[in-house]
Amino acid sequence: MAGYDAILFDFDGVLIDTEPLHFACWMEVLKAFRIPVTLDQYRRRWVGISDRDMLNDFGPLANPPVDGATLAKFHPAKKELFRERSLQAPPWGPGLAGFLRSLDGYKLAVVTSSGRSEVAPLLEAGGIRHFFGAEVYGNETPKLKPAPDPYLRAADVLGAGRPLVVEDSDAGIRSAQAAGFDYGRVGSPAEVREAVGRAIAARGGGYR
Ligand SMILES: [Mg+2]
Repeated sequence: MAGYDAILFDFDGVLIDTEPLHFACWMEVLKAFRIPVTLDQYRRRWVGISDRDMLNDFGPLANPPVDGATLAKFHPAKKELFRERSLQAPPWGPGLAGFLRSLDGYKLAVVTSSGRSEVAPLLEAGGIRHFFGAEVYGNETPKLKPAPDPYLRAADVLGAGRPLVVEDSDAGIRSAQAAGFDYGRVGSPAEVREAVGRAIAARGGGYR
């Protein structure tokens, strides 16, 4: 049983948890509308759906109620605030740099449906970009996850024969399966170290 030669990481929900920051930025730019939504409710109901649908849901909750189109005008302000805040203090998973360093026997990649212009500056700001031998972003392959293209591209760039994928979403896992790669599923960045350790150990491998 051959060990893995590469580890391909999804970005959001695996290396970083940006949802609390997205939520905080929305609440800040929409403050005047007094929308009574908590982070817990946001995570349960609105993560993974489009901003447009979310704002259409938020409109009737405002005091007084407004339509989603009114709230949508604040989209550019939210985007800019998120960009600033995320670069100031990227919400990385715990001990991420040390963990990536400990994987120095493996080729590493970031494989995300998010855009290069959003993610690459965060990798730079966090001082972790140099760990990754391949970066595959949204719109850089013919098809996005759940198609196999992004993970196949990453393995190809790395020259990896037996990669392990680390994912938090159904679409990402379907992409890994379609590529024919093993995967570890995590619920949050805090679970990544253990999930990777377990998967590597199951193949008789190790890391320092
Ligand atoms: Mg994800």
